[in-house]
Amino acid sequence: MKIVISDAFDPGLPAKLARYGEVLDKAHLASAEVLLVRSNTKCTRALIDTIPNLKLIIRGGVGLDNVDQAYCAEKGIEVFNTAAASSVSVAELAIALMLAVSSKITLGHEGMVKGEWRKKACERVELFGKTLGLIGAGRIATEVAIRARAFGMKVIAYDKYVTASEHAELLPLDEVIKAADYLSLHTPLTPETRGMINAERIAQMKPGAILINTGRGACVVEADVVAALESGHLAGFGNDVWLSDPPKDSPLMAAPNTVLLPHIGGSTQENLLRIGDIVCEILEGRRA
Ligand code: NAD
Repeated sequence: MKIVISDAFDPGLPAKLARYGEVLDKAHLASAEVLLVRSNTKCTRALIDTIPNLKLIIRGGVGLDNVDQAYCAEKGIEVFNTAAASSVSVAELAIALMLAVSSKITLGHEGMVKGEWRKKACERVELFGKTLGLIGAGRIATEVAIRARAFGMKVIAYDKYVTASEHAELLPLDEVIKAADYLSLHTPLTPETRGMINAERIAQMKPGAILINTGRGACVVEADVVAALESGHLAGFGNDVWLSDPPKDSPLMAAPNTVLLPHIGGSTQENLLRIGDIVCEILEGRRA
């Protein structure tokens, strides 16, 4: 079995996979029977058509929006993700972004290395006592809720499909948006969630609220977020996810009060190890 690792996984993974077949790098994509991808490789119809013996795609991560699942089903190619692995990793980043935006971490740091003492500009706000609104109440949102409650936040959430949560009070979307001091996005990208956070919804948010997106870039309308940051209606935006990786001409680059990251929600060493373990479990299961 030819296993091609196309994106960045744990460096120890090729050795672990050797017992399942010949492990090859991206240069051998066309010969893959099993293809391991994270976010960079787009498993489009066009790409799949260049890999004649492909039987299995494993996406190290949660979302499967970079895999044409309908075409895979048509061609009999199995598709797996490693959904459970990334929750803690992404949740910690969402909390890190909430703290970084609120505590002006990057503004202060950039000042220090330039020799500027930005004490006044770095006036901070606390998470303690604030309301966190989660959009989505799945695995990652639950881990965020647990951590946010430890900071003394009240946690409310909207989820179209989940009806009970131990860690957040579930409310209708409008109520979550209106009550949140921090709004953190944790849904997959679907036709329903695309552009969900737009000018109309941002206008419903509290003046001075902070938006965090570690879900999918296209769930927000970037231009509307930028307009709200420029007007001051949004006090800040912590963002890890983009319309494309890397983003092209995003207006967010010039917007005020942002902390912007290169899609690193799943990029902890521990998560890459967990992803590798699940990849092995999937291959082991097929061998049995
Ligand atoms: P999950 O499936 O456990 O949770 C997603 C939740 O969103 C579900 O409970 C679902 O019911 C809810 N949902 C779906 N459509 C909705 C809608 N229209 N309105 C409200 N809620 C809706 O998934 P998860 O593991 O928590 O991951 C969530 C998302 O985080 C992924 O789909 C992915 O887009 C993103 N993610 C980002 C990174 C990163 O690197 N930043 C890493 C992993 C996952």
